[in-house]
Amino acid sequence: MNYDNQNIFAKILRGEIPCDKIYENDHVLAFNDITPQAPTHILLIPKGPYTTINDFGKNATAEELKAFYAAIDTIVTDKNLEKDGFRCIANSGRNAGQEVPHFHMHILGGKPLGPMLQAQK
Ligand code: AMP
Repeated sequence: MNYDNQNIFAKILRGEIPCDKIYENDHVLAFNDITPQAPTHILLIPKGPYTTINDFGKNATAEELKAFYAAIDTIVTDKNLEKDGFRCIANSGRNAGQEVPHFHMHILGGKPLGPMLQAQK
């Protein structure tokens, strides 16, 4: 997948459209999902142009990788998600229904989240 710099998260990173910011540092940005699926539904994105979790894992610098995982911990701690638990989801590609082709981690919590996958027909 080639990186499309017109994707909506690229526009958020450039400040062309707003977001409900939760956390930011030199390497990551986190903001509330516009259509939350749980009481807490945050999207964490790297600032670099990575399309999927495996693109990020393969091509990000050690500093970017460390910053990303550190940000998960910061958010989980700030939002008090650790005690009751939370879920991280990274949809990648068509079969996972990835809508935005800029790698993002969904961080969900605040209620029991149910089974990992919807029941399939
Ligand atoms: P995915 O299906 O994993 O690609 O998830 C994309 C997510 O981005 C969805 O949960 C959308 O609700 C969310 N989303 C799309 N546009 C925005 C936006 N402008 N601000 C915040 N979240 C957004």
